[in-house]
Amino acid sequence: MTVYAQPGQDGSLLTFKPRYENFIGGQWVAPKNGSYFENPTPITGRTFCEVPASTAEDIETAIDAAEAAAPAWGKTPVAERAVILNRIADRIEENLEMLAVAETWDNGKAVRECLGADLPLAADHFRYFASAIRAQEGGLSQIDDDTVAYHYHEPLGVVGQIIPWNFPILMGVWKIAPALAAGNAIVLKPAEQTPTSILVLAELIADLLPDGVLNIVNGFGLEAGKPLASNKRIRKIAFTGETTTGRLIMQYASQNIIPVTLELGGKSPNIFFGDVNAHDDAYWDKAQEGFTMFALNQGEVCTCPSRALIQQSIADPFLDAVTERTKKIVQGNPLDTDTMMGAQASNDQFEKIMSYLDIGRQEGAEVLTGGGRADLGGDLSGGYYVQPTIFKGSNKMRVFQEEIFGPVVSVATFDDYDDAITTANDTLYGLGAGVWSRNGNIAYRAGRDIQAGRVWVNNYHAYPAHAAFGGYKASGIGRENHLMMLDHYQQTKNLLVSY
Ligand code: NAD
Repeated sequence: MTVYAQPGQDGSLLTFKPRYENFIGGQWVAPKNGSYFENPTPITGRTFCEVPASTAEDIETAIDAAEAAAPAWGKTPVAERAVILNRIADRIEENLEMLAVAETWDNGKAVRECLGADLPLAADHFRYFASAIRAQEGGLSQIDDDTVAYHYHEPLGVVGQIIPWNFPILMGVWKIAPALAAGNAIVLKPAEQTPTSILVLAELIADLLPDGVLNIVNGFGLEAGKPLASNKRIRKIAFTGETTTGRLIMQYASQNIIPVTLELGGKSPNIFFGDVNAHDDAYWDKAQEGFTMFALNQGEVCTCPSRALIQQSIADPFLDAVTERTKKIVQGNPLDTDTMMGAQASNDQFEKIMSYLDIGRQEGAEVLTGGGRADLGGDLSGGYYVQPTIFKGSNKMRVFQEEIFGPVVSVATFDDYDDAITTANDTLYGLGAGVWSRNGNIAYRAGRDIQAGRVWVNNYHAYPAHAAFGGYKASGIGRENHLMMLDHYQQTKNLLVSY
């Protein structure tokens, strides 16, 4: 067990600056209007720094810097860009613990997840896209005896990126790595709830990139996000966040006819078929672990398995087992590596989850465990902690249909295969899903029949860089990760040449 010291205290791995500026053109640049907002840590609820409340003027300054840097970066040989991306990955790995403390302090999540998943994945994303861009080839095809078609990949130029607060560094890297690999310059706006850890990363890698290739401007959605997404000078906007905001982003982008990538909300079903039974110890245990993934990252995961569908034949023993397991989830100081669940990312999010705990009860859902605030006492008493909660009810209830984005799972039972798939697909969303069955036919069929971009079969919550990720239905447009991501950050030029 390790308990990391709080930032700024004796023995800590980092000290946050009391005030951050925007990172533009390789410099720290104050917002034009001189306005800042306070950033509290969800761990204690106390403010630890302030960051710019930027406006359209600051976005313009950042786009100026990105436009100045884009041509040279776009012409930098692919092999050189790949070397730089690999160096960034090295730098992340060399500073893994420091970044983990920064991310934990900014977001409230358990440090063990930053150390074991978020940051190793972030480093691997840079390595993956360093390799992917080198492996990418243009095409040449003969049209007739005299004519040949050449296909080239060209960077788009300056791209805008807007990210949410649930995995600030990893969601940033999912967008930054492929955009840089493809030769674009970036203006990125972090979420106002977690503005700092991505700045710590930017500072850490600043010397590895030409000035102006990566610019970070903080601020609120309408004041800073909208001027970025609707700017005539950006060539693409990539967004992760709520479905309602995604609709606005599409409207802004439509004015400038630029492509969008939207990674939006979800209400992912996790289906446990009847052959998951207590007579197969190892698999029974693995399936229970898959169920409790609803509490990973405090449930603040767009693919959170927030609807568990359990076949009637195993419902009683399975629910007893997972309820006991959920009660054993260790909540505590997020900087302690033994802690499994940390704080919700913001007070607003905490309040939203608490309101859904009331809504669930009011609409008649049964609370199997949890159902309230977790009071962890001491220094943590001002933090935003929620008990992992299991509701039992029916798929028509609001707690089954609306994204709570907290450690809350809504459980319903089903009779047969068709019932399971119909219920799983009875949602606005189509981002993630889980299927648990040892019967290959059932598992495969369900994987194909569920309308979602990612279906985990007999596992849940793995995010390798080379597996395409994205949503069906109201969960988004486009994919992240995988080679195909490069296409989202490049133009294809065709030269049709007659000799
Ligand atoms: P949000 O939409 O409120 O905010 C996301 C970002 O958009 C923030 O940076 C915010 O400042 C900005 N923003 C808000 N209004 C804007 C506007 N009008 N114009 C431009 N930018 C604007 O979402 P959130 O509450 O921060 O994030 C949680 C949501 O993100 C959940 O719905 C979750 O499912 C989703 N999410 C999806 C994925 C995915 O990959 N699909 C990953 C993580 C989170």
